[in-house]
Amino acid sequence: MESVDGEHAFKPLSNSPSGDAPPGSSCHAPIVIRDSTDDHVRDECGVFGVIGHEESAALTYLGLRALQHRGQEGAGIVCSDEGQLNMHRGTGLVDEVMKPHKLARLRGDLAIGHVRYSTFGTSELKNVQPLAVDYSRGSMALGHNGNLVNAKFLRERLEEDGAIFQSTTDSEVIIQLIARSKQERFLDCCIEALKQVIGAYSVLATNGDYIVAARDPQGMRPLWLGRLGDAYIVASETCGLDIINADWLREIEPGEVVCISRDGIESIKPFPKTTPRSCIFEFVYVARPDSHIFGKSVDEVRKQLGRNLAKVRPVEADVVMAVPDSSNPAALGYSHESGIPFDMGFIRNHYVGRTFIEPDQTIRDFGVRVKLNPARSAIEGKRIVLIDDSIVRGTTAKKIITMLHKCGAKEVHFRVSCPPIISPCHYGIDTPNSHELIAHQMTVEEMEEHFGVDSLAYQSIEGLVEATGIPHSNFCLACFNQEYPTLLPKDFDSGKTHRRVIDRSADSYDEDTSRRTFLERTALGTLIGLTASPSKKGS
Ligand code: SF4
Repeated sequence: MESVDGEHAFKPLSNSPSGDAPPGSSCHAPIVIRDSTDDHVRDECGVFGVIGHEESAALTYLGLRALQHRGQEGAGIVCSDEGQLNMHRGTGLVDEVMKPHKLARLRGDLAIGHVRYSTFGTSELKNVQPLAVDYSRGSMALGHNGNLVNAKFLRERLEEDGAIFQSTTDSEVIIQLIARSKQERFLDCCIEALKQVIGAYSVLATNGDYIVAARDPQGMRPLWLGRLGDAYIVASETCGLDIINADWLREIEPGEVVCISRDGIESIKPFPKTTPRSCIFEFVYVARPDSHIFGKSVDEVRKQLGRNLAKVRPVEADVVMAVPDSSNPAALGYSHESGIPFDMGFIRNHYVGRTFIEPDQTIRDFGVRVKLNPARSAIEGKRIVLIDDSIVRGTTAKKIITMLHKCGAKEVHFRVSCPPIISPCHYGIDTPNSHELIAHQMTVEEMEEHFGVDSLAYQSIEGLVEATGIPHSNFCLACFNQEYPTLLPKDFDSGKTHRRVIDRSADSYDEDTSRRTFLERTALGTLIGLTASPSKKGS
C-alpha cells in the first residue's frame, strides 16, 4: 500500500504559513490539497510525553516528528510550568504547527503531545489533541490513540446529565469521566474513567504534576516507556524514543496504568486480566519499520511476511518490486526467499505533503503520479512481482499496475503481504465500510481481471500471524476475519451522524473553491484535463 504522506510539504501547494500563494491564484492564503483518493487505511494517532526534563516541549516536538506517520491532520503539545498548563495545538503537520516562537512559550519539565488523524470526529482544530480543560480540581490534559466503541453511548448519557462537549472526539468522553470522578487522586480518577470505556486506547493524561500513561486491557495500540537521563519518556513507538536518544525501558503492558512522576513510576493493573488482542495491522502498515512494538521488530516482521509469501505463492519472474515505501521490507523478504532480484520500480516523491483528491477521474489519476513515478528502464520487458502490503479499495493498485503496463512490463504478478481486508476497523484505523473494500466485493479471480494482472495472491492469516512469532490468540485480526475482540454496540457508528458545531476559525480559505479556482485558472488545470486549453477555449 502506498504509504500515507505527511513528512514534507509539496511547496507550491503547501499550507505552510510561509508558503507562497499558488501561481495564478487570487487567493493569498496558502492552499492545502488533501488526498482523499488515497487507497489506504489511514494511520491513527500517536502520543508522546516527557517528565523531568527542562526541554520537555522541544523533546516532545522531536518525538511527535518521529511519530508523524501516525497522524498528519493535527498536532499539539501541552506543557506544565510548575503546574500551570500551557498549550499549543493546530491543524497540519508537526512542523507546520510547532513553529519555534510557539515552542518557546511552552516552558516546564513536563509535556504531553499528540499527532492526530481523525478516525472519530472531524479534523477541525477543536478535535486536535491533547485536549486540555479546567475543572473543579484544577486543569488536566489528555492525548489518546485508539477508538472507543462505547463512546457514543457514554457521550449521550453524559449529555443527558448536563455535560457540555467542546469537541466531537471520543477522547473527550474520557476527560468528562475523569472530571466527574469523586476519587481523591487524579490517578484514581483516570482509572475510574478508563474502567468505563470499551475499545482501544493508549492514553497519556496529566494534571500538571505527573503523567498517567495507560494501555487498554487488550493492548490494542502500542505504548513505550523510555528514559533520558533523569527524565521519563513515553511514546507510541520506539522511533519516538530513538530520535531523542532515550533508552528503551519497556513497553507499557496491556491493562497497565503507569503513574510517572518526578520521583519515579508507579505501576497499577486495575482491570480484570484478559488475553491481549493487539492490532496486527500495526505490523503490516501502521508502525514505522524501525520501531519495535509488541516485543518485535516491525522491519523483521515485514521481511518475514515477504518470505512467507514467496514460499507459498512462488512465481517465475525477473524482478521483485515494492509499492514504496511501506512495502519495501516485504518486497526485500520476497526477493531474499525467492532469489529474484529486488529493484526500485517506482520512485516516490518525498516532498509531496498531504496530496489531493478531486472527484474528477483525471485528477485522481494525476494524484498517484505526483507521489509515485515509474522507473521505466527497470520495468520494460520484465516479468515483475509487485509487492504491496495491503489492498483497501484497490484504486491505487489499479493505477500502479496500469503504469507498469504502460512502461512495457511483460508480466505483472501481484502479491499482497497481508490477507484480504474484508471488514472495517472500529479501533482506530480508518478503513472504509465493507462495501468499499474490494476484497469484500470481489473474489481473487475477479480482482485479477479487475487489476489486469497475470496472477494475484494474498498472504494467509496463518502466514501473517506466523511472521510475527506471537500466538494467534494475542491478536486482533478483525479486519481479516470479522472476529472483533470487543462487543460492538448495535448503534455503534463513527460519530458522524450528529449535528455538531463546526469551528471554521482555523480555516484559511474555502478549500473547494480555492482549489477549483486555482486549477481552472492555470495551465495545470489544462494539463490534467480539468479545463479546455486556452486556444480551444478561444475558438
Ligand atoms: S480490525 Fe484490523 S486494523 Fe483494526 S485493530 Fe483489528 S487488526 Fe487492527
